[in-house]
Amino acid sequence: MSPHQKNEITSLLGIIAASALIGALFNQTFLFVGLALFTYIVFMLRNAFKLQDWLTERKKDLPDAWGYWGEIFNELHILEKKKFKQQKLLSVALSRFKKAAEALPDGVVILSQHNVIEWVNPVASSLLGINYPQDAGQKINNLIRHPSFQRYLTKNKFSKSITLPAPDNADNTLTMQIIPFGYKQKMIFCRDISHISKLEEMRTNFVSNVSHEMRSPLTVLSGYLEMFSDKPPKDKKNFKLAIDNMYQQAMRMQRLVTDLLALSKMETTPVEHTKSINISTLLTTLKENAEVLGQDKHHKISLQADEQINLRGNNDELHSLFANLINNAVRYTPENGTISISWQKINDEAIFSVIDNGPGIAPQHIPHLTERFYRADADRSRESGGTGLGLAIVKYAIERHDGRLEIQSTLGKGSTFSCYFPSQRFST
Ligand code: ADP
Repeated sequence: MSPHQKNEITSLLGIIAASALIGALFNQTFLFVGLALFTYIVFMLRNAFKLQDWLTERKKDLPDAWGYWGEIFNELHILEKKKFKQQKLLSVALSRFKKAAEALPDGVVILSQHNVIEWVNPVASSLLGINYPQDAGQKINNLIRHPSFQRYLTKNKFSKSITLPAPDNADNTLTMQIIPFGYKQKMIFCRDISHISKLEEMRTNFVSNVSHEMRSPLTVLSGYLEMFSDKPPKDKKNFKLAIDNMYQQAMRMQRLVTDLLALSKMETTPVEHTKSINISTLLTTLKENAEVLGQDKHHKISLQADEQINLRGNNDELHSLFANLINNAVRYTPENGTISISWQKINDEAIFSVIDNGPGIAPQHIPHLTERFYRADADRSRESGGTGLGLAIVKYAIERHDGRLEIQSTLGKGSTFSCYFPSQRFST
């Protein structure tokens, strides 16, 4: 028994004893004791009713009382204060959790035990097309109807994630994982992995493109070798033709490997561009090379280069960039065509351009030309020894020098490839 309870019993006994004593003085002991007990019961009932009123209408302040009831109300008051404090802490923790979940780069959906949506963060809203709070209270399987999600939800095996097309944009790919928590509640984590699946697709395409590019020269080479091993050649003229062809195919493979290595080097090495490159000298050499490369076609090749503008950059990358554009012009421009190479400063930029009056390129191909192995005219490209990687190398190299590539072309009239370099790349 608590001290308060002992006090209350002592007080009650005291009241009974005092009323009995006073009653004895007036010879009315029972009446006085009865009156005292009645008053005590009324006091008790009044406070019990006050307590019940307070319990049913929590908004009211706690009632006042003295003695034993005063103690009870006081303890209730302390309990209330504690509860209020805990609620405050809980609501702070909850709002912190919501803020953190809202800031997550992943989508989060909280489901109650019957897969009913309770809460959705903004990322999940946009990825899954759920309107929150309007859709709160709806079953998730009514909103995400993809069969693989429905199966995942009903199978109740959530150790692995699933991949599915985004509900409102089938071009995007999502990964989803359900994590059970609390009492039969679930949390769905979802993430847009479109870029990863696109990368994976690119990787697969790249491998199949490289294999395809390698296959035809290898087929020619192995065909000749097989033929020679069966029957050594007697006719010298045919033998020479075969050797020339084999040499061409070997060169084609070599060019492909060189281009692949150039791309891979740029992808894997950090940009270190501290050297000053004399562009005018570099272009003079490249023009001479172009004249040798296209000597059978009798091109008119001109070069106008501003000797004052040099670039800070990587010599190999810039060489490869300019050489690819000049060599393309030589390879695609027919006999007696003209090719103008220029290097000049306009406003705040240095511009390298190659203008040819070759076959030109149809507009639908232009946005794709810098993709690996993309060819506007595959036959012409292969005939002239192209690997389909030249403009991909150009794009990479120019981006590593903070520049940009612009292509203008008209079918039947010719093409202009221009590279723009910002002034912060200039060097003395
Ligand atoms: P390729 O080795 O096939 O030349 P590139 O990446 O250098 O590969 O060029 C991609 C495609 O762009 C070429 O296949 C060709 O169709 C087109 N192209 C590039 N330069 C020219 C040009 N000067 N004139 C016409 N077409 C061009």
